[in-house]
Amino acid sequence: MTQETGGFAAFNLNPNILAAVAATGYEEPSAIQQQSIPIIMAGKDMIGQAQTGTGKTAAFALPILHCIDPAKREPQALILAPTRELALQVATAFETYAKQMPGVTVVAVYGGAPMGPQLKAIRNGAQIVVATPGRLCDHLRRDEKVLSTVNHLVLDEADEMLKLGFMDDLEVIFKALPATRQTVLFSATLPQSIRAIAERHLRDPEHVKIQTKTQTVTAIEQAHLLVHADQKTSAVLSLLEVEDFDALIMFVRTKQATLDLASALEAKGYKAAALNGDIAQNQRERVIDSLKDGRLDIVVATDVAARGLDVPRITHVFNVDMPYDPESYVHRIGRTGRAGREGRALLLVTPRERRMLQVIERVTGQKVAEVRLPDAQAVLDARIKKLTNSLSPLVADAESTHGDLLDRLTADIGCTPRALAAALLRKATNGQALTLAAIEKERPLVPNNAPRGDRPERTGDRPDRGDRERRAPVPLAEGRARCRTALGARDGIAAKNLLGAILNEGGLAREAIGRIQVRDSFSLVELPEDGLEKLLAKLKDTRVAGKQLKLRRYRED
Ligand code: AMP
Repeated sequence: MTQETGGFAAFNLNPNILAAVAATGYEEPSAIQQQSIPIIMAGKDMIGQAQTGTGKTAAFALPILHCIDPAKREPQALILAPTRELALQVATAFETYAKQMPGVTVVAVYGGAPMGPQLKAIRNGAQIVVATPGRLCDHLRRDEKVLSTVNHLVLDEADEMLKLGFMDDLEVIFKALPATRQTVLFSATLPQSIRAIAERHLRDPEHVKIQTKTQTVTAIEQAHLLVHADQKTSAVLSLLEVEDFDALIMFVRTKQATLDLASALEAKGYKAAALNGDIAQNQRERVIDSLKDGRLDIVVATDVAARGLDVPRITHVFNVDMPYDPESYVHRIGRTGRAGREGRALLLVTPRERRMLQVIERVTGQKVAEVRLPDAQAVLDARIKKLTNSLSPLVADAESTHGDLLDRLTADIGCTPRALAAALLRKATNGQALTLAAIEKERPLVPNNAPRGDRPERTGDRPDRGDRERRAPVPLAEGRARCRTALGARDGIAAKNLLGAILNEGGLAREAIGRIQVRDSFSLVELPEDGLEKLLAKLKDTRVAGKQLKLRRYRED
């Protein structure tokens, strides 16, 4: 094991891949990586049961990069992802891990972007193709041989692909690939439909599942907050304003994140330090000692660096990045509530990680309540409380020690004691905002309405009939427009088919699509008002279930 690559070195991956992994700052493989990488490297078929947040992308990307031949300029690996959003994410991950592999190129193939450049990139010899099924089928219609050299196939989030109605497209793609290829399937759940695919298209697959033993959690108050990944730092800063903590440990995934977050906290005046595997052992011990005796209040750590850390002063654990598995969550939050003290654990959850939250709740048998970011009023109250707490012990005898000085200053300056006290407060608070308006101005970064997720509402999964046909239209959310297609249940359409087609051909994020209502002879879809005309133009030639979608703005009046 080397310092740079930690547990990854044991995999015997191509050194250029290891170097790229080291550059990302990962300290050691996650559980799913530990199990999957050797299987995929050995060329075997595999079913991996894992959700977003477990490190599943690297679990297949690293061994696949290891297996491809950079000298061959032809598609060798195909990764299928349910949405454009995920396809781009996976393609970026491949690019990161292949940074030190000259000659390796990655192409992302998804709807809503012109087909020509995508096909050109494939023909120019991109070895890795990351695609959504719908768009890939369009390419296959133009050139059925385009995938004939692919010998590794990964289905990422297979259950999501089926939910979005891509079953038929998958079958077309399976047929276009060599029968001798390796196939790896990742899915958060394994319903019968997924098992059936595995049975038909995988050869003697190995099963990988993260074992989730039931865990007991001691009396620690737990909560979670939904937040977008790029808002984590501001969310942490807001939470710190209102949490009444003594010492606090924050967990992140990478070394770089420990450094970034610790310096953001220091910049706000917190006594904070980073703790990661790159920091020499004696320096680490110094950090822990400082946390013990109060020279530090916050430590931002990776799991590896926090091993064995036992500081009774810790009242709070912030899981700023999601742990890889429930065991590690339980382990992390066990850092607080030591020595019979009360502990509080907060978990930041990005929309895509909500399934992981459910797994944690199931395994621990406890509900992790949702909290919202404190609003300006709560921040104001907390700041005033802190000030009150710091001043009230002084009031009893300050008059006897500083009363005469007060008289003299008011006389010299020629002001009232109230004016002087106000001036002293301004100094004592270092100009910190202590009015609602000022706090609102200071903190526009994180809106208080936490993201509700990146999944569209899909209340209309079943064809609506009878009295539901006659029901009054549901009021539209602000910024949304209702659109209509003449395709409905009688055309064999379900909401998931519409969703899949619009997501991929329209190039939208999932949360951009609102309610989808499928009626017998037509369907209604809620889309963003902003850019609607362009979107409809993009969807002009989109077909669903073999028929033209022809989506138009729908006016109720
Ligand atoms: P995924 O489950 O593939 O969506 O990955 C979730 C996040 O974990 C991504 O931001 C990855 O960059 C990160 N990640 C994956 N593997 C590791 C690792 N071994 N150590 C630290 N972070 C990782």
